[in-house]
Amino acid sequence: MANEPLDIAQAQALIAERCSLLAAETTAIDQALGLVLAEQVVASGDVPSRANSAMDGFAVQAGEAGRTLAVIGESRAGTPAEVVVGAGEAVRISTGATIPDGADSVAPIELVEDQGAKVTLLEEQTTGRNVRMAGEDLRAGDAVLAPGRELGAAELGIAVAAGRAELQCVHRARVAVIATGDELREPGAELAAGELHDSNLTTLQALVREAGAEVVLAGHVGDDPVATQQLFAEALGQSDLVVCSGGVSVGPHDHVKGAFIELGVEERFWRVALRPGRPTWFGSRDQQLVFGLPGNPVSAMVTFLLFVAPALRAIQGRPPQQIGSAALGEAIERHPDRDECVRVRLDQDEAFATGPQGSHILSSMTLADALAVVPRGEGSLAAGSQIELLSLQP
Ligand code: AMP
Ligand code: MG
Repeated sequence: MANEPLDIAQAQALIAERCSLLAAETTAIDQALGLVLAEQVVASGDVPSRANSAMDGFAVQAGEAGRTLAVIGESRAGTPAEVVVGAGEAVRISTGATIPDGADSVAPIELVEDQGAKVTLLEEQTTGRNVRMAGEDLRAGDAVLAPGRELGAAELGIAVAAGRAELQCVHRARVAVIATGDELREPGAELAAGELHDSNLTTLQALVREAGAEVVLAGHVGDDPVATQQLFAEALGQSDLVVCSGGVSVGPHDHVKGAFIELGVEERFWRVALRPGRPTWFGSRDQQLVFGLPGNPVSAMVTFLLFVAPALRAIQGRPPQQIGSAALGEAIERHPDRDECVRVRLDQDEAFATGPQGSHILSSMTLADALAVVPRGEGSLAAGSQIELLSLQP
């Protein structure tokens, strides 16, 4: 294992090497929103299944204006008329109702004089007017959705129209989130000297859910090697991916790496030439991915977005996040040997730092629209320089 911190891209590549697609499972369609399809969906029949009316009106044979026709029945949505429409005849019809045999055109209600038993057509009726043909949307056997498709509202709807109640989907990643540190207290707790509220446990769970994954365990452990290993064992026993914050450095009270290694997790990298987020650790055990993120709240978020989010995308079958770009609205001082993720707000495609950039300043995250990646170097990066933008949405 090299001692020099890795570049962001090198670290991401080592993670990508370890990512494999999670298994597919049969999913009820009302549970499939946001999942990725793991099969081809094919239409089981024509949609619409029969020719039907696009309007409320009268089903008739095509012909000239001014005809007065006998109304011989009614076709309602779900209840077709059991008649054959001849010349001189019409069937009252609702939107979506089946076109009766013999008819090939629908006169909308607004364009007739309805006398109850008779109807007079005010306009010429061309063949197919206001008729939706069978199979106009889908033909039986049509490929409707391909594997890899992310299931949104429209995709779920078309799957139902194609005849499906269940879909094979890549299952949500099961993620364990753990915060370490003796100094941490639960949200809302009174704080004694030296204590602080555990914000990471909440933030990291939110990021996991935003990434479409499921939190299967959320826990806190103090800076104790035995308790740390116990909680990690519990986490590894039920998850595809573990994200942990704090305790990852090399101080006497940092037990994260040691505990994971004891549990058979192999170190894949340690430390990235990044600010904030240098002390980031990644390991794997078979297909399980393990991230030891730094404890400072901004570092934890930045490293989640840079490293954990792409891993969650990959194992859940989603495409990589698009990298944006913008021009710097102001000069930004560069770090000599670390690439820096600067929290920026965007104003007309120009990026401006959101103020103090310390890794403990979480308020600068709430003001940000994106992270700008400022490459390491001497001096400052000039206003107007193009920079890469990383989304705050995993
Ligand atoms: P560590 O990485 O454990 O050395 O923690 C670095 C800094 O982040 C310390 O100031 C911690 O108090 C702070 N920190 C660690 N974990 C959390 C957390 N879960 N929520 C908020 N701050 C944290
Ligand atoms: Mg700590």
